[in-house]
Amino acid sequence: MSNGVIHHIEINVSNLKNTVDFWTWFLDDLGYKVYQEWEKGQSWKLGQTYIVFVQAEERFLDVPYHRCRVGLNHLAFHASSRAQVDKVVSKLKEKGTNILYRDKHPFAGGPDHYAVYFEDPDRIKIELVAP
Ligand SMILES: [Zn+2]
Repeated sequence: MSNGVIHHIEINVSNLKNTVDFWTWFLDDLGYKVYQEWEKGQSWKLGQTYIVFVQAEERFLDVPYHRCRVGLNHLAFHASSRAQVDKVVSKLKEKGTNILYRDKHPFAGGPDHYAVYFEDPDRIKIELVAP
């Protein structure tokens, strides 16, 4: 056990199937393994941390997620190398996923920050950062 390391992150989503379809290859690429799976949710674990996606209840779907509102803005993951970032970028392009800040990519986070930024189906921003 490492004191302070994130134990888990749980995110409610508008459409669990779309979320699972989207996140599976990415989390797999980072080495996550499916951890829990049930009708209303799925989680993936890497090391001591797991990420859970849960289907939001119908009655809460009237207000969509927006990362500029109060709450989560984005999730950032460590990549093993710049090559891994590049590999993810190719896969995103292949899948037609919107890459953010394309004009500044891969240095949208600054000259010493090699990363890619993209959005999941609920437009949650994801960042993958090379060491
Ligand atoms: Zn960030």
